[in-house]
Amino acid sequence: MKILGTLYPAGSSKAVNCSASVFDSKLMLNHEDGKQESYDFVSAVLGEPILGQSQEITFSDGSRFLPEDAKFRWPTKRKRLKLVEKLEQNLFAVVGAIVLSPILIYCIMFKAVPEFAVQTYDLVPDSVVQEMGEQAMFAIEKAVLEPTTLSELEQQAVVQLWDDSLHKLSLSKDHFKLSFYQSDFFGANAFALPHGQIIVTDDLVKSMQEHPLALQAVLLHEIGHVEKQHSIRMAAQAAVGAIAFAMIFGDLEGFAEVLLGTGSTVLQQRFSQDMEKEADEYALQHMKQHGLDPKEFAKALEIIVEQAGIELENDEEGAWSKYLSTHPSIKSRIEYANAF
Ligand SMILES: [Zn+2]
Repeated sequence: MKILGTLYPAGSSKAVNCSASVFDSKLMLNHEDGKQESYDFVSAVLGEPILGQSQEITFSDGSRFLPEDAKFRWPTKRKRLKLVEKLEQNLFAVVGAIVLSPILIYCIMFKAVPEFAVQTYDLVPDSVVQEMGEQAMFAIEKAVLEPTTLSELEQQAVVQLWDDSLHKLSLSKDHFKLSFYQSDFFGANAFALPHGQIIVTDDLVKSMQEHPLALQAVLLHEIGHVEKQHSIRMAAQAAVGAIAFAMIFGDLEGFAEVLLGTGSTVLQQRFSQDMEKEADEYALQHMKQHGLDPKEFAKALEIIVEQAGIELENDEEGAWSKYLSTHPSIKSRIEYANAF
């Protein structure tokens, strides 16, 4: 049997019309111009048979031959190739795949990945956590932080609250670090980095000078984020998700990028509501345990909201509802702390 088609010789851009025929383990190619070649058929790689497309064959030197006839299939003993093509011709299998693929991807991304991430974040070595935190800090500092304008005395007052907090929690000073920065971007705010560095802004310190215990509540909340490893959990989830995506869609070359890029997720971190609740709970429990009024925590949230320019009472459309849409839980957090 003669198979008409085109030969694409290895390392060349030209295409040669030829006819092929298979003899035992050899494939004979007769070029248009009369030239003859033989290739080893057994070691050649057959392309996936795709309905409506001709099946190419690649020889060990890299040359490829593409038959003209889209229906032509190379003789093979491999069952898998035949099974794939059979499935592709089966309407139920096709429809099933269309329906099941999104469900499967959903299950992997939203069930398996978080589950797996939870099991892996404990395994992240301290040196990686340190690196992640420092990289994030480096980027944030460059982008949105300026040197503090707080006086030595103002800083000293906060450091005392900080030392007292670590002491109450029986945590080592070696694993935590308090830093002051002026930041128009963050306004009155505080945030925690995975390696235990906690940043408080000048605006936050100033807005709470009359309420030192409220500021201490904020510090406890931020320490809660570090102790519960929230940043690492977020990064692990992002990394595992990206790897799962790469595996599903077959792009594993981005693997290293994925692993190195996890630091950037720290930068854009917005903790989940569950994590915020967990950090609240951490702060409130310890406040109660050490005789600090949990209402100070509610006070702290109120001051932060107030500083962000939003009136809590203003339930109408506008600023408050806009704020609620991004922080839907803050009101319930205030209520929870007041009732604690
Ligand atoms: Zn928080």
